[in-house]
Amino acid sequence: MMKFSQKQIFIPSILKIAEREIENTGKYLKDELFNNAALFFSEGIEEIFGEKVYHSLETSGVKVLHRNIISDINIENIIREAFAIPKAVDVLVGIGGGKALDYAKYCAHVLAVPFVSIPTSTSNDGFCSPNSSLLVDGKRKTLSAKIPYGVIVDIAAVKTSPEPCIYSGIGDLISKITAGWDWKMAVRITGERFNDFAYIIANNTVLDILHFKETDVKNPEFLFHLVNSLLMNGISMEIAGFSRPASGSEHLISHAYDQVAEKPSMHGIQVGVAAYICSYLQQNRFETVRDFLKSTGFFDYVAKNPLNKEEFLKAIDIAPSVKEDFYTILSENDSIIRAKEFLKNDVICRKLFV
Ligand SMILES: [Zn+2]
Repeated sequence: MMKFSQKQIFIPSILKIAEREIENTGKYLKDELFNNAALFFSEGIEEIFGEKVYHSLETSGVKVLHRNIISDINIENIIREAFAIPKAVDVLVGIGGGKALDYAKYCAHVLAVPFVSIPTSTSNDGFCSPNSSLLVDGKRKTLSAKIPYGVIVDIAAVKTSPEPCIYSGIGDLISKITAGWDWKMAVRITGERFNDFAYIIANNTVLDILHFKETDVKNPEFLFHLVNSLLMNGISMEIAGFSRPASGSEHLISHAYDQVAEKPSMHGIQVGVAAYICSYLQQNRFETVRDFLKSTGFFDYVAKNPLNKEEFLKAIDIAPSVKEDFYTILSENDSIIRAKEFLKNDVICRKLFV
């Protein structure tokens, strides 16, 4: 008899994106029958949002049995802390930017306890992804964890987050255009696994934001769409079972830049610039990528906070070797030369580097 097996995926059970949702944290945790929480704040975040979170937990009858302020993402510290968390804790909550969320997500994964993600800035798609970006032996590594049990995004908080965080989110989002193209190419050339559903989801997230003609990136409606799209990118990785739908040649360049740059910029800033270059290499929706990064003010922001040209050129050189068996446009014969020529000669690129 023939056996049928359908893929099972995890999705967040709590999913709230609206203004002032942080004040409802306690209610949402209690609704899911959580009683004892461990909280992990990014540096400076407890001072801004702590009172609202604590008040909300207290009025809902959720106790805080453990708390920490996260400044580093060294895996050894996470493992050590995981075993210091009281046994009664039934939910781990990360509040803040990337570090606190990556830290708490992995800690929850180690303990096999649900994790609730409360990003106060959405500078990349990590707040709802099944991975954690951590330091292992001093090097930044992406480790498998679990998709968050809950995601609570307070748009009012995201609105007050530093501008670079919003531009970084924009860069990480537009990179799905080049990532998806690379994935399809890898499937054709190396026979890599494809997942139509994950591809459609990731591609739709970009279409959604492109249809939204808004140039004020702090407009709540624009932020809602941005957050929604980044969140769905996280889900697309969960569906695919790997990061391909959300990460291609542009991510390789960004990872390589992290390795060679004296002062790396934010993930999504680097990824956005690299996506612009890679969309040129791919001859893939180049004008779309360019116009979006132009109209949102992304290019203007980077021009005021430029990347290092020599280091970026070096990053392009080593990008293809960053990940093993990962075919992208950069694996093609003349791509590295073309990318470097483009970086040196393109009118927009010239403003993005010093
Ligand atoms: Zn990314």
